[in-house]
Amino acid sequence: MKVRVRFAPSPTGFLHIGGARTALFNWLYARHMGGTFVLRIEDTDAARNSQEAVDVILNGLRWLGLDWDEGPISGDVTGPSKGDRGPYFQSQRSENYRRRVEALLSRGLAYEHEGAVKFKMAREPIIIPDLVVGDVTRELTDREKLEPDFVIVRSDGQPVFHLVNVIDDLEMGITHVIRGEDHLSNTAKHIALFRAFGVEPPKYAHIPLILNIDGTKMSKRDKGASLMTYLEEGYAPEAVVNYLCLLGWSPKGNREKVPIKEVIELFDLPQILRHNARFDLNKLHWLNGEYIKEMSSDRFHELAVHALARVGIDTNRYDLAYVKAALDTSKQKVKLFSEVPTFADFYFKDEIDFDLEAAAKDFVPETKKYLKQLRDAFAQLSKFDATTLNDTLKAVAAASGASMSVLVHPIRLAATGRTVGPSLYHLLEVLGKERVLSRLDRTMSRMG
Ligand code: GLU
Repeated sequence: MKVRVRFAPSPTGFLHIGGARTALFNWLYARHMGGTFVLRIEDTDAARNSQEAVDVILNGLRWLGLDWDEGPISGDVTGPSKGDRGPYFQSQRSENYRRRVEALLSRGLAYEHEGAVKFKMAREPIIIPDLVVGDVTRELTDREKLEPDFVIVRSDGQPVFHLVNVIDDLEMGITHVIRGEDHLSNTAKHIALFRAFGVEPPKYAHIPLILNIDGTKMSKRDKGASLMTYLEEGYAPEAVVNYLCLLGWSPKGNREKVPIKEVIELFDLPQILRHNARFDLNKLHWLNGEYIKEMSSDRFHELAVHALARVGIDTNRYDLAYVKAALDTSKQKVKLFSEVPTFADFYFKDEIDFDLEAAAKDFVPETKKYLKQLRDAFAQLSKFDATTLNDTLKAVAAASGASMSVLVHPIRLAATGRTVGPSLYHLLEVLGKERVLSRLDRTMSRMG
């Protein structure tokens, strides 16, 4: 049996971190088994639907790299290939639902009631076999004992979630339903519906919820609940994916940083942990720093350039070799891509400004004289590399009897406008002689 799984979000305008993890676990299982990962947008609630809300989901999945495998051909494409397809939209499938409801009605398994259609629910407990939580026996609630039947089509003609969810899983040949444990309470209804349609239900794997670090239920408003905050705050998607893998699943040996290729090899449903996961933002932050430290410089450049673009810095105006050299000096310094502008924006500015008055409080009376001596020494250099620059600074300090620290602070300010940043000699080397001299000149002229 070829595995077919799906992620079936409702477009609410928000992709919760728990939803992202559900998508990831489905995707991992499909990739592990060589199966198919279907994306289905459950958008039957017309009032809440919008293109933006759908985009939040699609962009989130794309950002995480969770590609879906099939669906109707979307847009104006010429050939059905991966990427041109899907997702499925329930709003485009109403004909299927109507046909299925007719079938239930004609077989006496559903009936009309006050303009709505109700499903004749089983009058006995239903056992839900679950690959994660084990067998769950669902007894009838007191209310269900009085009235076990439930509405599948509302009086306004709208089919309800339980019905369309089951019909699609059935028609799409879904073999495993991997979803949040909050849906366990719906599953008895779903199993009964599958049986009414004459098929055995898929296998279920209900994944325990994600709680806040203090054990409280994670709500929409909790910090870190929305996937998009990670994009906005400068996380690397591979670090977020890695962290999400560990929320409810764990490789042997308590490993934390596990490349996705390896997770795909190792991932399996029975290993999903039965207890709730706790969301630890500090750990994700740490993991992100580890990813940045160890990522290739090409990947670092790609993500850093995006982070700069987000604050309006267009690196395209500069020579590629310069951009790469500039970003290389920041790689070991940042833990989040949102920090990149603080460490590297000065490379991409025509003029450097800083609060000279505030800075001058830390200057010595001879600062301007030292800067002039340095400028003249730099101007003589034919080699403008970090070692030569370091030697030159030492020589100027020695000649004028000043300590290095008295020189280092003003020159960093003149070159970058900031008091922190990449290693001074390396950043000067990357800026190059021309820029460094003109920045020193400008600072000296501002010093009057
Ligand atoms: N649309 C449902 C949700 O977003 C899907 C539930 C399921 O995966 O079956 O919660």
